[in-house]
Amino acid sequence: MGRLSQFMQRLRYNFSNFMIGRYGVDQLGKFLWGFVLALIILGFFIRHPLLEIVTILLIIYLYFRMFSKNIAKRYEENQKFLDSSYKFRRFFNNKKSMLMDLKTHHIYKCPMCKQKIRIPRGRGRVEITCPKCKNKFVRGRKH
Ligand SMILES: [Zn+2]
Repeated sequence: MGRLSQFMQRLRYNFSNFMIGRYGVDQLGKFLWGFVLALIILGFFIRHPLLEIVTILLIIYLYFRMFSKNIAKRYEENQKFLDSSYKFRRFFNNKKSMLMDLKTHHIYKCPMCKQKIRIPRGRGRVEITCPKCKNKFVRGRKH
């Protein structure tokens, strides 16, 4: 075995030894790394000392979290992050699934009660019975 690969193996071993009992990366960490990346890219366009300081401080904080041995505390932070971002994430997931849905379905509004009704696309002209008020109406184009 070459000296270099021996050295690399040792380095890897030392690193995994070093990481034992340390926190590592969680969802909050991944989110913040993404944020740091955005800041670095932004830094190419806006050269501002404050931006640099914030980026560096954030990187230091992220390393501190990764190497932290206070796992309970870090876990708690991550839970807080997941809790507070829940509505936000749900909002975007909803928007995304709504957009996906529009590709496969039409959304029609009942003229009587304004109830929204999903009808699969490609059905041509259809008579729709409103599930709420039982009003019947026709929608869609003739083929
Ligand atoms: Zn209706």
